[in-house]
Amino acid sequence: MLDAGRENLSNGAGMRAQPGQALPLVSTRGNERTVVWVADVPIGGTQAVVIAGPCSVESRDQVIDTALAVKESGAVILRGGAYKPRTSPYDFQGLGVEGLKLLREAGDAAGIPVVTEVMSEDDIAVICEYADMLQVGARNMQNFALLRKLARARKPVLLKRGASATVKEWLSAAEYLLEGGNENVVLCERGIKTFDHSLRNTLDLAAVALVKEMTHLPVIVDPSHATGQRSLISAASKAALAVGADGVIVEVHPQPERALSDGDQSLDFCGFAEMMGHLRTPVRSIFETRELAVCI
Ligand code: PEP
Ligand code: MN
Repeated sequence: MLDAGRENLSNGAGMRAQPGQALPLVSTRGNERTVVWVADVPIGGTQAVVIAGPCSVESRDQVIDTALAVKESGAVILRGGAYKPRTSPYDFQGLGVEGLKLLREAGDAAGIPVVTEVMSEDDIAVICEYADMLQVGARNMQNFALLRKLARARKPVLLKRGASATVKEWLSAAEYLLEGGNENVVLCERGIKTFDHSLRNTLDLAAVALVKEMTHLPVIVDPSHATGQRSLISAASKAALAVGADGVIVEVHPQPERALSDGDQSLDFCGFAEMMGHLRTPVRSIFETRELAVCI
């Protein structure tokens, strides 16, 4: 599944990188915006996308039920981790190849493409067999060996922002992918570490608006990891779309209280359907409780 490689310093459009320009390939090119296709789903076009699914693929029923439910509510891509980056080695690590197979089966049952995380260079080939999009997790954003290999994979990449990464570092990681020949990169803001520990992370919404100005790549937001709290996912998603995000990626589980990872930040099927209802009427839902004061 690996591309033979492209001429160094050129991007997919055949443009040569200009020496001295720090991020020549990811930087904005006039009004041009890149649309990344995940199978038949465009990200970065005129419509915002919702990606949804469990943090981890746990079982056949769990992932198929979730795929059907999120598709029914309007999700266009299924997410699900088979290789999980866990802080403790004693926590659930994912089902590996078995998880990839189940994710693919669930995506096919619902008729939507699938995205899953790649943690190691060794797993790229097998993940490419089953997934439509490869996710680089926050912990691996600066794994340059992994990025170089993914630059040659024939699949789009979802590049999450590292929890302590600056915008420049995040875009530089994307530059590795484009420089190596993969133009199909979607950026994902998933919250950063700050002094405030009220929430799992701090959702950096201004960075989303900033990155939309700085790059032609699509940008989405992960309100689940950004907040760590189920009750805030809908509000954070609305806010993300309001600042110009091209979509959101949300964790959904049939029984969040029984999830093997990230249950506190996962919506159940009803919660997800309700959130989708709010997102479908964004202007009304953003202003439903308040109108702007008017000077008279
Ligand atoms: C995930 O998407 O489940 C995940 C581990 O995300 P992040 O890399 O943003 O922590
Ligand atoms: Mn998770």
